[in-house]
Amino acid sequence: MDHSTDEPALLIALEAGLAATFRRRVRDRLASFGVQVSLVEGQGRNYLEVHGDVEPLRTLALDSWKGIDKALFLGAAHLHVTRTKTGKDDPAGKVAETSSAVQVGDLAIGGGSFSVIAGPCAVEEEERTLRLAAAVSASGCHLFRGGAFKPRTSPYAFQGLGDKALQILARAREESGLGIVTEILDPRDVEKVSSVADLLQVGSRNMHNYSLLKELGQTRIPILLKRGFSSTSEEFLLAAEYILSGGNPNVILCERGIRCAAATRQVVLDLGIVPELKKKTHLPVVVDPSHGSAEAYRVPALARAAVAAGADGVLVEVHDHPEEALSDGRQALSPEELKELVPVLNSLHGLLNNAETRQLNPLPGGTVASTMEEN
Ligand code: PEP
Ligand code: MN
Repeated sequence: MDHSTDEPALLIALEAGLAATFRRRVRDRLASFGVQVSLVEGQGRNYLEVHGDVEPLRTLALDSWKGIDKALFLGAAHLHVTRTKTGKDDPAGKVAETSSAVQVGDLAIGGGSFSVIAGPCAVEEEERTLRLAAAVSASGCHLFRGGAFKPRTSPYAFQGLGDKALQILARAREESGLGIVTEILDPRDVEKVSSVADLLQVGSRNMHNYSLLKELGQTRIPILLKRGFSSTSEEFLLAAEYILSGGNPNVILCERGIRCAAATRQVVLDLGIVPELKKKTHLPVVVDPSHGSAEAYRVPALARAAVAAGADGVLVEVHDHPEEALSDGRQALSPEELKELVPVLNSLHGLLNNAETRQLNPLPGGTVASTMEEN
């Protein structure tokens, strides 16, 4: 028998010794939000059990209402991004951590696969871009990235080649056969940019641009949503929720480093968010070790660490003459370095996933195999 409908969605502890008239006043005030409230008499303390749609009550400061001591929401908020248990979860309650796949053309990102997205920060001259796209393809990467519209801190810095860059990307797509990732800055450009892009990037600075997120929610275009560099995981997931709740389920999350108070560096790659996101959402998670480290020499190590943390892919910036790059040259790998890195990441992913599968295999005696115990 299913008891779930009998359980209250919200439990409220009233202040000890609260007079009956005040108890009824709190009950009626809550009921005015369209929920069903019943008073439960306890010993010395009374409670309110609330049934129905309590979502609008979440943003109210219930604890500060006169007569309320504590409010406890018993269920998680009903969000589209929330991971729900699947048939693949084991009976001991371990939630399967494989992401759902987001289809980008022929490529499935997530769902157990590992993808590498690479390319220059910005699209520059056509010849260079085509050369880089060929190198990215030859390295075994899956998608080619390059910014056409660049969100720069200074209005005087290179802003991207705009429409001209979109034409170059279309050519790179045709010649390399790779799908294209490029950033969307303006809700008015969605149609134009997505005529070239297979995956639309929403940059860190735009994670909070709710008009843009709502606009993308109205489409079915795959979106690479980068984490705001000062955002909590909750803010990140709620930004994704804007897109999903609009009707577009095709969102891939990207950790790209967060601001750090330490004096020596402005950005720290937060790899701890990868397992956290895997636990909380079914959406694929990729990691950008380039913006997350700001210096090329750190990129291979952080890319390997991202695989170990469970990322479904990485996004890496590449340039053939980093010292000449119009943006983010310091963090760009050379095509040769990329070529060396990709097979390492693929092997590492294969190794870790096989090891994980082995670890979860129950032994005949009913216990779970653990390599830790054997050592
Ligand atoms: C980029 O990918 O080039 C970029 C601008 O990234 P972010 O939004 O993470 O700074
Ligand atoms: Mn960049």
